[in-house]
Formats: sequence, C-alpha cells, structure tokens
Amino acid sequence: YYWAPKYSARNVACPGCTKPCGKLFVIKEGKYAGTEVDGPEYETLYSLGGCPEISSIEAVAKANELCDLLGLDTISAGVTVAWAMEAAERGLLKPEDLDGIQLAFGDEDAFLAVLERMGRREGKVGELLTDGSKAASERLGKGGEFAIHIKGMELPAYDIRGAKGVALAFAVSFRGGDHLTAGNYGTEFGGSWWRFEAVDRHSIVNKGFEVKFHEDLMALYDVLGICKFSRHMFFLEGLPELVRAQTGLELSAGELLTVGERVYNLARAFNVREGFSRKQDHLPKRVMEEPIPEGPSAGDRVSYEELQAMLDDYYEARGWNRAGVPLKAKLVSLDLEEIAEETGAGRA
Ligand code: SF4
Repeated sequence: YYWAPKYSARNVACPGCTKPCGKLFVIKEGKYAGTEVDGPEYETLYSLGGCPEISSIEAVAKANELCDLLGLDTISAGVTVAWAMEAAERGLLKPEDLDGIQLAFGDEDAFLAVLERMGRREGKVGELLTDGSKAASERLGKGGEFAIHIKGMELPAYDIRGAKGVALAFAVSFRGGDHLTAGNYGTEFGGSWWRFEAVDRHSIVNKGFEVKFHEDLMALYDVLGICKFSRHMFFLEGLPELVRAQTGLELSAGELLTVGERVYNLARAFNVREGFSRKQDHLPKRVMEEPIPEGPSAGDRVSYEELQAMLDDYYEARGWNRAGVPLKAKLVSLDLEEIAEETGAGRA
C-alpha cells in the first residue's frame, strides 16, 4: 500500500499466526490525529473508500476506527451509507430525513457523521440505516432496486457479474452475500485452485459442484479453527495429518469433508425452519440487469435465467429439492435424522 511508509506502525497478527496480515495504521497529525486502527483491509477500502467515494485514506482509516469501536461491520456499514448517498442523490432522502446532514458521495464529514449515528443508533439516521440497506429501503418504501445485499447482508468487494460461480456462492450463502462461506473467488478469478482447473468465470457450467465443494471445505476449516487465508497452504489431503496430530483421531480426507457437508446442511436446515427457501437465494437487481460496462468482463451480468439454472445445478449437487430444502435421505445419510423430522425435510 502506498501509505504504508507513512502510516503503518507495525504488523498485527492473530495469536500464534506466522503470517501476520494486519497492519496497525496510526495517524499522528492533522485532522484525524489520534486515529489508530488495525486496517484498512481490502474489503474495507472498497466499502469505506470506493463505495462512498471517499478518496482520503486518512478519512477511510478514521471510518474504519469508528466502525471497530462502535461494533459496525465495515462492509455492511459502508455499502449501506453508499445506498443512502444514492438515495439522497436521487432525491429520495432529504437532509431532514438525516438529522440535517447533507449526504453526498465523496463528502467525508457527512460520511463520518452518518457512520457515528448508525453506530450509536442515534436520531433519524440511526433509525433508518443501522439495520442495513435492506431494512432501510423497506422503511423508506423506496430504493430497494439499488440496495446491494443478499438476505439482508451487503456484498463485499467482488463484482460478481463477472464471476458466475462467486455469484452463485453469494446467492446461496446461508448468512447472506459473503465471500468467506465458499471462498471460491480465488478459484474463479485465478481459473484454477487445488484440483479445479480451467475454471471459466464467465460460464455457468459446473458451478453447482464447485460451490458445494468450496463451502464444505470452508465449513471444515471453521470446525478445525484454520484461518481461511491458509487455503493455499493447507489442502484437503493434508488435513487428516493435522487432525491426527491435534486429536489422535484417524479420519480420512473424505470423512473430514463430510463434517463440513454436515455443517452446511445443518445451517440450511436452520434457515428452512425459519422460513427461507429458494426465493431468498437471490441476487441484487443490478447484478442481474446492469452489465459491466468495460474491461475484461465487459457485458457480463448474471441473468435471472442463469441464476435459476445454477441454483438447480447446486441443489442437485447438494441433494436438496428444487425449493432448496435438504432431502430427507440426504439428512439421514449425514446422521441428521432428527433435523429431518424437525424441518419436515424436502421431498424430491
Ligand atoms: S487473519 Fe489469518 S493470516 Fe491474518 S493474522 Fe489472523 S490467522 Fe494470520
């Protein structure tokens, strides 16, 4: 990063990690003197920088610090304020709706003021925006067509119009659009990873199995407590040895992957019980209707028909029915029979 010589005080790592990925950003003088934050990281640069068009790295660091201190997720917070900026630009939100704040793209003072109110759930801003862009557009009764979220979670820094497999992964993620549930963006943008070769990010072919495999492996990573930044170091075939060394358990790679599959089916069953189904495995309108205007992915979008075809492919790979409900036979085969009874598991 260009600012590292000026602002990076030292590396920051999780306990015991040998590859520290964090940087402590310290501002000693000027408008934001006293700011001290672990970041801003890649996603945060997009959400608190690019989305609201804040060009000052110092203001982005300050916004990052505010989010950390107030308990706001930087991706959701930044994308939500960008939604409000667009709503203001379109005349759907007036200063009187925002505690008198004149919100506009690129205005760092207004941006920080709104973030702070969101974090404290203060005033009209807090009421409208704190729960994210989906809730905000529903409360306003307008602006849903440009709210960039899936299942109420704002999207991270990947233009999924140009990576169909990532779009599918975001659409089906049980917690909403996020990059870590499947973590297949490296495979899609790089074109290969582990045993996946010649992956075509512009095509919808074979995305069902690709997403399922990545989800199961990442769920296994969570179970084992492995950082997902290690997925180019710890491949599936190396995990049995790690598990044996830590626990003494003799489990094959296939058995371990089934642990991840069980986690994923359990999470899906939870969502089914709470009323989620295929309808919520959606994409933002813009992803489906507005093609990328230029560059190597020019013309790419994920049409409604492409999404439906990928959903069918994915549900089939998972052993779920067309509504996205795990089949009873699938749950029983994963030793989740009780869950099958509780959710009224899907029929074929
Ligand atoms: S996030 Fe992962 S790579 Fe970064 S410091 Fe923590 S354990 Fe290490």
